[in-house]
Amino acid sequence: MNLTLSSDQELLRSSVREFAESELRPHVMEWDEAQGFPRELLAACADLGLMGIQFPEQWGGAGMSAIDYCLCLEEIARVDPSVALSVAADNGMRTAHIFMFGTEEQRQMYLVPLAKGEKLAAWGLTESSSGSDAAAMRTTAVREGDEWVINGSKQFITHGQTGDLIVVTAVTNRAKGNRGISAFIVEKGTPGFRAGKKENKLGMRASETSEVIFDNCRVPANQLLGVEGQGFINALQVLDAGRIGIAALAVGLAQGAYDAARSYAFVRTQFGQPIGTFQSIRAKLVDNAVRIEAARLLTYRAAAMKDEGERTTLEAAMAKLYSSEIAVRAAEDGVQIHGGYGFIKDYPAEKYFRDVKLTTIGEGTSEIQRLVIARQLLAS
Ligand SMILES: Cc1cc2nc3c(=O)[nH]c(=O)nc-3n(C[C@H](O)[C@H](O)[C@H](O)COP(=O)(O)OP(=O)(O)OC[C@H]3O[C@@H](n4cnc5c(N)ncnc54)[C@H](O)[C@@H]3O)c2cc1C
Repeated sequence: MNLTLSSDQELLRSSVREFAESELRPHVMEWDEAQGFPRELLAACADLGLMGIQFPEQWGGAGMSAIDYCLCLEEIARVDPSVALSVAADNGMRTAHIFMFGTEEQRQMYLVPLAKGEKLAAWGLTESSSGSDAAAMRTTAVREGDEWVINGSKQFITHGQTGDLIVVTAVTNRAKGNRGISAFIVEKGTPGFRAGKKENKLGMRASETSEVIFDNCRVPANQLLGVEGQGFINALQVLDAGRIGIAALAVGLAQGAYDAARSYAFVRTQFGQPIGTFQSIRAKLVDNAVRIEAARLLTYRAAAMKDEGERTTLEAAMAKLYSSEIAVRAAEDGVQIHGGYGFIKDYPAEKYFRDVKLTTIGEGTSEIQRLVIARQLLAS
């Protein structure tokens, strides 16, 4: 396995870093407090290919690899994890679901404008009473003639209010359990489909999260996404790939927290010397640097396997579990190294500390990653 980035990948990393430093860094706290970023940002992201990173050019994508995808997310998350969450959610879940399981017509109609940043989408799996146990969903879709009638609601949906469309899963045959769930594409403005409450969150505040409600929402039969009854299985396949993105986001966030702490450690003096010369501060920085590098390698390995077309259930779960948990430690140590200044909003340490927790929860909690890993490793 070649662990060296190509010159094209180094160039990609530096151009996304430049974009993040110039277009995101000045607005990070403004967007955090406003609980949203301007829609035009998506067009700017799309100009760099960031809204359709891994999709072929024929569907408006940038045709990059899974490792390139990780590089992009790392660099965005290093500066603004909330924007990275929106980019990861759009690329990794909703757009990926349409790319992987959509018809040619659905790809042309939805994937192209999504990958070009002209539209934004949501992906609705979670419900108020079914999160980790997503298959226990209550939302239903009943076939009536040439239409499906959807009833129910979804909870914690990224871009639930701002999305132009949603990929939603619903029970179409309760008796078939996991294999009786189907996915649908529902456009904003469809009668019976509306956004509910917008969540007021601890972190990742610039990435909008809302409830969405389906009340006798009728969609034409051709809005079924994938094969009837395969919606939940397909969602798990989408999540396998999506988790590599959250792992990369966590690596980037950890790197941002580490970089901020490292810089601070050499400007802050106490007892007449920079705090970065004290052994216990150096040990924190060193331990985080080692853990971040290990997380990055696990993440790239999962991405490289995806690029080879291999199944990544185990490797993606390992990368997501490890990266998110070491990112929590990096963000916490970042606050500690900043002392009292880590606790106030004038320094970035505070925001990394708030944002990071989502990485151990979204797209499957750490406990669920351990279940997934155990199933793969410990099957008797
Ligand atoms: C900001 C944000 C954005 C999100 N975006 C989306 C989105 O766009 N689309 C979407 O569909 N969902 C989204 N989610 C939902 C997210 O995926 C769920 O919150 C997550 O899967 C956990 O589900 P839950 O919140 O219902 O927690 P629960 O499933 O109720 O879990 C509560 C606790 O119990 C533990 N637990 C549950 N089952 C087990 C078990 N078998 N063994 C051990 N421990 C267990 C969990 O690990 C957790 O610690 C988002 C969530 C947030 C916070």
